Amino acid sequence: MRRVTIFGATGSIGVNTVDLIARAPEAYDVVALTGGRNVALLAEQAVALKAGLAVTAYDACYGPLSEALAGTGIEVAAGPQAIKEAAHRPADWTMSAIVGAAGLVPGLEALKQGKVLALANKESLVTAGPLLLSEAKTHGATILPVDSEHSAIFQALVGEDIATVERIIITASGGALRDWPAETLHKATLSDACTHPNWDMGQRITIDSATLFNKAMELIETREFFGVRPDQIEAVIHPESLIHALVGFTDGALMAHLGPPDMRHAIGYALHWPDRGHVPVDRLDLSHIAQLNFRAADPDRFPALRLAHEVMEARGLAGAVFNAAKEAALDAFIAGRIGFTQMAELVEATLSTLSGEIVTSKPLTLDCVLAADHLARKTAASHIATQVAAR
Ligand code: NDP
Ligand code: MG
Repeated sequence: MRRVTIFGATGSIGVNTVDLIARAPEAYDVVALTGGRNVALLAEQAVALKAGLAVTAYDACYGPLSEALAGTGIEVAAGPQAIKEAAHRPADWTMSAIVGAAGLVPGLEALKQGKVLALANKESLVTAGPLLLSEAKTHGATILPVDSEHSAIFQALVGEDIATVERIIITASGGALRDWPAETLHKATLSDACTHPNWDMGQRITIDSATLFNKAMELIETREFFGVRPDQIEAVIHPESLIHALVGFTDGALMAHLGPPDMRHAIGYALHWPDRGHVPVDRLDLSHIAQLNFRAADPDRFPALRLAHEVMEARGLAGAVFNAAKEAALDAFIAGRIGFTQMAELVEATLSTLSGEIVTSKPLTLDCVLAADHLARKTAASHIATQVAAR
């Protein structure tokens, strides 16, 4: 039996991971499940998978979680420290699917076990890519990307020499507003930005798809995880979301990875790796699909992509600042404090204000990443106050 732990079990990735594990309960020993405010779902999952431990990120949710699990024998804990400690319980396979920078610490802690970390939390690579990879190396752990584009690249690279890679293309659906004229984007509301044409995902990543901040994060993830140069990576709009990524080699071959827009494919690949298991996703019917479309991603319409290239060039703490500013911008947009196009303006302003703090020749440490995250949120908050006043 493989011992598994899922961080962020109650989220979109977490639920899909639980779905795959619940199909073969005899194969898995579920060590721990963590969630946030959705206590009812966490308790239900813990009972269904006979988990050893259920942890909520919030102290205030401890009572309701304990109540929901009373008499089941499942251990209950709460708070960020309890989440961190859950990563110390021996597990062969850990899913990192907490949303946001909060996912970094549990992932880093899980790597210390020297096993497999299935990484959906893209903020980990964006904020602390070099730290994550060096921790994995030190402890002999394997990181498997779960973001669909990076899983696709990873699969296209099996048996290949990274030195023969010329370019990597990741695809973007274009998000909810892809057909809106650029000059009307500033009017987009929260509900406009939350209706994704192809993927069913958490609210935050769905909005990030509409701004293309999600794609910007993925460009940075690609740079950090695969170690390629920024000029070798590009994003292209592909409205069907059936090709997830393409890898071009020195001999001119371009290897594309196709699959239905269902995260269970990438999660299932990581779960069964290094083998291929049965994954219950729809099979593509090419004659039914008939055509695939592509168009260049316009950097004027999507400033997030331009900012991603700046972050990839700067490296150091730029990713931590970029991510924290983006999270602050997203919170402000969700709260109705700033408009849709102001999110990118805010991230750009924060990067510019902190440009002197970003460059560092020293190896990244968790402390300096967390300090940069904190400073960026503070800086972003003061820019938001200015933006709100100007609205
Ligand atoms: P969701 O918002 O659906 O779920 C997030 C999970 O994290 C939930 O379990 C939530 O708990 C928990 N959580 C929220 N805040 C905290 C916190 N401060 N501390 C601990 N746990 C917390 O996110 P997604 O599943 O969409 O995304 C998860 C990660 O995977 C993100 O980094 C995202 O970018 C990445 N990703 C997602 C994809 C997708 O298809 N959804 C695709 C590729 C990558 P609760 O809900 O109980 O409050
Ligand atoms: Mg993705």
